Amino acid sequence: MVAPTPRAEVVVDLAAFRRNVAVLAGLADRTGAATMVVVKADGYGHGAVDVGRAALTAGATWLGACSLAEALVLREAGITARVLSWLDLPGEDFAAGVAADVDISVASTRMLRVVAEAARRVGRRARVHLKIDTGLSRNGCQPADWPALVAEAAGTPDVEVVAIWSHLACADEIGHPSISLQAERFDAAYRQSLAAGLRPMRHIANSAALITRPDLHFDLVRPGIAAYGLNPVHVPLDLRPVMTFRAGVALTKRLPAGESVSYGLTWTTPVDTTIALVPAGYADGVPRSLSGRMEVLLHGRRLPVVGRVCMDQIMVDCGDLPVREGDEVVLFGPGDRGEPTAREWADAIGTIDYEIVTGMHRPRLRRTYA
Ligand code: PLP
Repeated sequence: MVAPTPRAEVVVDLAAFRRNVAVLAGLADRTGAATMVVVKADGYGHGAVDVGRAALTAGATWLGACSLAEALVLREAGITARVLSWLDLPGEDFAAGVAADVDISVASTRMLRVVAEAARRVGRRARVHLKIDTGLSRNGCQPADWPALVAEAAGTPDVEVVAIWSHLACADEIGHPSISLQAERFDAAYRQSLAAGLRPMRHIANSAALITRPDLHFDLVRPGIAAYGLNPVHVPLDLRPVMTFRAGVALTKRLPAGESVSYGLTWTTPVDTTIALVPAGYADGVPRSLSGRMEVLLHGRRLPVVGRVCMDQIMVDCGDLPVREGDEVVLFGPGDRGEPTAREWADAIGTIDYEIVTGMHRPRLRRTYA
């Protein structure tokens, strides 16, 4: 770990990340599937280039990005592994994607034509993954339009159809009936692609399906959250959360009983106490809605954050602990030192840990790698 400074920072444990990827790639390996680690949204807030490189040393052979812009960031960093970009709009610069050897998701004949035209301009075939909407009702081709899409793709020499793929709506709810329904629709779409003369790979499994549904691994699995150490299902697996959010004490002050703290003066010292000011606020990823229900780890103890979370700082009630400026404050981490976890934050404010860690992608927040 880098020596703590008062400034708020996110520390990314790349060794833990690599171990998590190795665990997941090991599960995929059992069914003969390759592993694509999803590094969209700047690697779920962990830094796409650094975790992308780490994933590729730990058993992944593909990386997943949301947009061409995200995929090109990986290419510009010198990453040459296969990268799939999946949420591009027809107006995107697909020529740049094709030229950079990025696999592109296509969900309509309109998109297919745009990508094929870009491939013609670049003078090489575009590698495409045709996306079928099997029930999430989000991005993806409607089953009714699928036969036309696969037929046109099969007859377009400027594209190479690498795969057909889809995304599950309820993979983290083990046994949810929609999973089997989506699997059936996926199978029908596959058979239609074969009938059109295609011989594509198949992929549908996110982290939860990778862990719980080996029958849905097919040729490639696409774990995101589990690689970052956050297990989306209640199935024990040796994963360790990768992100720690910490800062140092910027200032301490002794307050007499009866003084109130932070905007709105919502909390009042019951007795004389020491307050530590920590320079991390909602501009740094501490949800303001955690006001009054959050703790930090300081001197090995869980201490309450009191009063409202401000834009740049929070205040910790330290009682009579001999807290000093510069002392390390852990806001969340893996939890094994007793610190809060991202999941605890998520549960407290009614969201998911995905949103907590992804929300740590902030221009002024330093990110270091351990
Ligand atoms: N595949 C697609 C298309 C996604 O959008 C995502 C993430 O949202 C993933 C895979 C990875 O999902 P998870 O982070 O639940 O493993």
